[in-house]
Amino acid sequence: MIEIDGSQGEGGGQVLRSALGLSMATGRPFRMTQIRAGRKTPGLMKQHHTAVEAAARISGAEVIGSFVGSTSLEFRPGRVVTGTYDFDIGSAGSTILVFQTLLPALLSASEPTVLTLRGGTHNPFAPSFEFLERSFLPCLRRIGVAVHAELVRPGFFPAGGGILKLRVEPSTRLSTFDLLDCGELSAPVARVLLSRLRSAWANDGIQILREQLGLAESAVETVSVPDPIGPGNALLVEYRMETFSAVFTGIADRRATSGDAAREVCAEALAWRKASVPVDEHLADQLLLPLALAGGGSFRTTAPSGHSRTHADIIHRFLPVRVGFELDSDRTWRVAVEGESRASTA
Ligand code: ATP
Repeated sequence: MIEIDGSQGEGGGQVLRSALGLSMATGRPFRMTQIRAGRKTPGLMKQHHTAVEAAARISGAEVIGSFVGSTSLEFRPGRVVTGTYDFDIGSAGSTILVFQTLLPALLSASEPTVLTLRGGTHNPFAPSFEFLERSFLPCLRRIGVAVHAELVRPGFFPAGGGILKLRVEPSTRLSTFDLLDCGELSAPVARVLLSRLRSAWANDGIQILREQLGLAESAVETVSVPDPIGPGNALLVEYRMETFSAVFTGIADRRATSGDAAREVCAEALAWRKASVPVDEHLADQLLLPLALAGGGSFRTTAPSGHSRTHADIIHRFLPVRVGFELDSDRTWRVAVEGESRASTA
């Protein structure tokens, strides 16, 4: 039984999600206390609770302490069973974070898995659908796992109602990879999603994207969500590289106007561009687990976030791998995952 203090490092939901994924992938049980103690509302929220329940279903786990608000949990995984699953978060919680929880169990299973996940698809402080589809999944393809993702309907806070469908084609032999250069980089393009909002709502945001990123009018696509459930506005900036894209997401909500969200997204995109590294801050923490299960790999990125360092610590508890963060002479970072492949699950 691996004992984990959920308040360590970032002290957020990622500590739990990583532990669940690693536990299913390695067959090692864990006990976690102080879940999300670093957050204003500690304990399992609906998104985390759905992640626990979905993980338990897929891996036939025995679980103690799985309820909304719970601050401790015991998780004993059984055998991973592939197939067709449908999980509903029941709020606008991120479907993409639930998917990333389940993924480690499915990467090297013997058969494909089809998932339907219901909840949010464009959440602040979480990967957006476009980030998943164009940034994260093409990287996963490099370790040998093909995932087809379909955004059936976007879901925003607070109404939720988004639907994400995924088909995971596993590989029994995961490959490692190195992502050290951007290679050829396209001019940025932007996509502005509007759900139950008039297009004028995003005028400020679009203007700021165009000015700060030097975008031509034709480089900004505005899309009105058909069949929308609730209001929402996402601003997505994409730089295409040879095999994958860097995607930056801004979400306008009660906290931020479309203009505020555009300013945040431009600042993130421009800082990444200036660093000339292929992997942005968010992709960096999300690549660590697949690379650890594949047995190694490396990439260049910006300064490692608290999420990256915390993730590395959790991975180390389950797998005999070492995650090294090294500052290069040009003030970019090289992250190297070294270890043996431990990805056999089903
Ligand atoms: P909480 O911390 O409240 O529990 P949480 O469950 O959403 O929230 P975090 O621990 O904050 O979990 O993890 C959020 C994850 O979402 C991290 O992997 C982070 O890299 C990713 N993420 C956050 N913002 C973005 C973004 N703009 N684009 C892509 N990924 C993002």
